[in-house]
Amino acid sequence: MSPLPLITAQTEEKLLAFLTEHGHTKFRAQQVLDWVWRKRVTTFDAMSNLPPALKNLLAEHFRFHTPEIVEIHGSADTTRKFLTKMEDGSLVESVIIPAAVAENGEKSERVTLCVSSQVGCAFGCKFCASGLLGLKRHLTTGEIIGQILSAETIAEKRVNNIVFMGMGEPLSNFDNLADALEIITSHRGLEIGARHITISTSGFVPGLKKLAAYPRQIRLAVSLHGATDEVRDQIMPVNKKWPLSQLIPALEEWSRGRNQMPTLEYILIRDINDSPKDASHLVRIAKRLHAKVNLIPYNTVEGLPWKRPTEERCRSFRDAVHKARIPVTMRYEKGHDINAACGQLRLRKEQEKNGSTPR
Ligand code: SF4
Repeated sequence: MSPLPLITAQTEEKLLAFLTEHGHTKFRAQQVLDWVWRKRVTTFDAMSNLPPALKNLLAEHFRFHTPEIVEIHGSADTTRKFLTKMEDGSLVESVIIPAAVAENGEKSERVTLCVSSQVGCAFGCKFCASGLLGLKRHLTTGEIIGQILSAETIAEKRVNNIVFMGMGEPLSNFDNLADALEIITSHRGLEIGARHITISTSGFVPGLKKLAAYPRQIRLAVSLHGATDEVRDQIMPVNKKWPLSQLIPALEEWSRGRNQMPTLEYILIRDINDSPKDASHLVRIAKRLHAKVNLIPYNTVEGLPWKRPTEERCRSFRDAVHKARIPVTMRYEKGHDINAACGQLRLRKEQEKNGSTPR
C-alpha cells in the first residue's frame, strides 16, 4: 500500500478540489492552509478551529512528513550544506547560502536555498558530480518542498530566495516542479515572490518550452558553460540532442513577453572554455539574448579531470565580456571547503555506502 500523500505537497487548487468533493467550502481549505503554512503545525489534531469530522477526513487522506536530516556541513563562509534521507532511503543534498551584506551595503536578511529536483541526474555533464551516478528518480513535489522545510529548521529562519541549482535537471521534472512552484509562491503557501526563484537548466529544450508558457515571472539561469557546439558537445551531452541552434531560439521564446533577462552561467574550465575566442563567442550569444553572464571558476571534483584556470585567466575572460558591455559577475562558489559543488556530498556518501572510493 502506498503511503498517504503529504499535506505539504497540496497546491491550493488540489486541496480545494479535494475538500469540495467532500462537501466542504473554500473557507475550510483556506483554514487548513493557514495552519500548515502560517502556523506551521505538524498534526491535523492541532488545527483547533476545524470540526473533528474534517480533522479526521484530513488524517485519513493526508499526512505530515519532513525528510530526515542526516548530515549538516557548515563552512567558514557560513554556507551550510545538508543531506536529507527520503523515505525510500535516497539521499538528497541542498545548500543554505546566507547573504551577509546586501547590494546597498546594509545587512541582508536574504536566506537562499539551493534545492535539488531529482535524485542524481540523467544529463551527465562531464564536470558534475551529480551526473556520475546517473538518474535514480524524480523528486516528488513533497520532497522538493521538504528540503525548504528542513532548511528552515537548520537555519532557524525562513528561506526567502530559492535557486533550483542542486542535483538534477528541474525542467525534466516539470509537473512536480510546477506544483512546488505554486506552493512556494502562493500567498497561502510559502509566499516567496516569483522573482526570488531561479530555475537553472542545462539546456533541456522541451522543458524550456513548457517554462515559456508558464505564467509566473520565475527567473531563468542557463548552464551554458560553452558558447559553441564544439565545446558544449565536449562537456554537456545534452547539447548533442538540443544544440545551440535549438537552445537559443527556445531561450528567445522564453524571453518574449517577459521583462526579464536570462542569466548565462559559465563555469570556467582550464583549456576547455577559457580562451579569448571563447569569450567572444559568449559575448555574441549574450548580446543576442540580452542576457547577463555569471562566470564561475571551476570547483575541483574528486575523480574528474577538469581544472580551474588561473586567477589571471579568469579575470581577463571577465574583462573581455565586460568590455563588450555585457553585465557580468564572477562568483566563486561558496562552501568550496564543504563539497558545495552540485552532487559532491551525496556522491561521497553513496561511495561510502557502497564501500567504493572516489575515482
Ligand atoms: S550540471 Fe545539472 S544537469 Fe548537468 S549533470 Fe549536473 S545536475 Fe545534471
